[in-house]
Amino acid sequence: MKRRVWHWRGLAAAAALGASAVGALAGMGAIGMGTAALAQSSPSHAASTPRPTLSGCRTAQGSIHFDFEGASRSACHVEDDRTVSILITPEHQPPINPSPWYAFRYRTAEGGRLTVNLRYIGARHRYAPKWRGRGDPAALSVAVAADGSAATITLPPGEGVVSGQPLVTAAHYDRALKQLVTDGGGHRQVLGHSHDGRPVEAVRLGNADAPHLVVLLGRQHPPEVTGAMAMDAFSTAIARLVRSRGIDRTRFQFLIVPLLNPDGVARGHWRANLGGVDLNRDWGQFKQPETRAVGDWLAKLPAGVRPVLMLDFHSTRRNTVYVQGAEASAQGKAFLAAWLGGKEEAFAGYPFTIDPRDANPGTGTTKNWFNATYGIPAYTYEAGDESDPAAVRGAAEGLAQGLVPALELMLAEGLRP
Ligand SMILES: [Zn+2]
Repeated sequence: MKRRVWHWRGLAAAAALGASAVGALAGMGAIGMGTAALAQSSPSHAASTPRPTLSGCRTAQGSIHFDFEGASRSACHVEDDRTVSILITPEHQPPINPSPWYAFRYRTAEGGRLTVNLRYIGARHRYAPKWRGRGDPAALSVAVAADGSAATITLPPGEGVVSGQPLVTAAHYDRALKQLVTDGGGHRQVLGHSHDGRPVEAVRLGNADAPHLVVLLGRQHPPEVTGAMAMDAFSTAIARLVRSRGIDRTRFQFLIVPLLNPDGVARGHWRANLGGVDLNRDWGQFKQPETRAVGDWLAKLPAGVRPVLMLDFHSTRRNTVYVQGAEASAQGKAFLAAWLGGKEEAFAGYPFTIDPRDANPGTGTTKNWFNATYGIPAYTYEAGDESDPAAVRGAAEGLAQGLVPALELMLAEGLRP
């Protein structure tokens, strides 16, 4: 078989521009796909360039589509009646975090069967397929190549959506923000807009003049859905505590921004916003509208209000919390000990580690910026990619319950002579 080569830039550009740009995919150097390259779909293409399509694939056995919010911008190619290849590519050239997002929907013909080969560029298979649809979920099977460069998914007959993590998109956040307002007696506000013009929304809980502000941020990185689940449960627990007076709303207020990268989520990105920037490297520079929206809001806080804690929710391969290391203040250490110390095994199904890491100056991470700017504990709350959702939620609720008592200890520490 003739060796086919594909070019990063061509693929990324085609993904960004849509089906009209697929011609850019053909024949440009750089990354060899070897004999595993996408096969020809029909004899008419046999002598020239392959024509993968970004709008989907159709065979006699069924069809694949990328026409919904959160779908990956993947090139798709028919290998034979039963087999389709999907090229899993990032939104910009590497280096990029290896969070290879995929999401597609499919429909099989009556009695049809479809097998999908995921072929990764710039990463190895990471996310076990999640399926939602009509049919028998037990009929889904996945086989991963020994080197992780590909995975073969046999789809249950019928129709469904297959994605690297459950799809959690704008409609979910709309409901979640409404519910937080209801649960916590807070109000919803638009902090700014993304490149695409999507709102960057927040819910505020507690009194606007309460002196101690806790900032909760989420979804800077689109595929990190277990972190979003943790943040959901955490925020809901906080809202209920505020309403039930378990948290004193005259002392503590909360800014909750659960979807900081709405464009990346809608467009199926691995990491970046639509500006091609990792938002978790833009803090301090604030060159991107999404991070700037939060930075501007913070800059306008009344004199009597000051952030006391920032939590930024993400996902990685294991449950962990990145915290300040030796750079932590005495207050920060008191808070850490009171909030997380000894809790690593306290939640069923959700063991976690505490990972102290001092700032890498100049990296512009949320964690480092909040710590450097306000001298406060600023943590990255990482839920494991494949952690059980119920356990993720249970642990987050438990940790939310203990949050304000630990903050009170921290504030008292600050008053000690
Ligand atoms: Zn992340």
